[in-house]
Amino acid sequence: MRIVFVGPPGAGKGTQSARLVDYLSIPHISSGDMLRAEIEAGSETGKQVEQFLSAGKLVPDQLMVSLVAARLIQPDCASGYLLDGFPRTAPQAEALDEILTAAGRAVDIVLEMKVPESILVERVLSRAAQSDSPRSDDNEATVHDRFETYRNSTEPILGYYRKRGICHEIEGVGTMEEVTERIHRVVDKYRLKSG
Ligand code: AMP
Repeated sequence: MRIVFVGPPGAGKGTQSARLVDYLSIPHISSGDMLRAEIEAGSETGKQVEQFLSAGKLVPDQLMVSLVAARLIQPDCASGYLLDGFPRTAPQAEALDEILTAAGRAVDIVLEMKVPESILVERVLSRAAQSDSPRSDDNEATVHDRFETYRNSTEPILGYYRKRGICHEIEGVGTMEEVTERIHRVVDKYRLKSG
């Protein structure tokens, strides 16, 4: 199953993604983790993307697409994966489609986490306050920038997936278990339907 997980910063997408990949035994492909790994490794790509990440800005599409494309051809991705944080822009969604179509495949399910923005800002800032090593992009100005970016660049791609009837809204307010349950209901239904 090829899943795209979309949600605003602080919606709990990372935690729920980790649970879902366990449940389905598929690889978790987090674009943010991939970029942070590049920075940590001190690679050429890492040097190019560092400024974008610390400013809470999106890295250039072409760079992101080539990183993800290289990951998707790894053997562990053959029977599915969960994309967490990618695609985040219309050009990335189009590029993903081209990659998949060329391989005779398609995105099966898009999960959209829904959490009111006021709750989200609170969550991201309290995560930063509680952490011993807060992420450099978890400060108030950057959080607002990341929301802006989500609304302007990422939300529009959902329309594209909705038209295909593959987008499922997940109510993100509730306990971790409740949210996991809602997600399982969606993927279980898909599995039943597709045999
Ligand atoms: P995340 O861990 O998903 O919140 O991503 C952290 C940061 O990595 C973002 O604020 C962006 O700077 C960058 N990033 C992650 N995924 C993408 C993407 N698909 N396109 C562009 N930039 C990204």
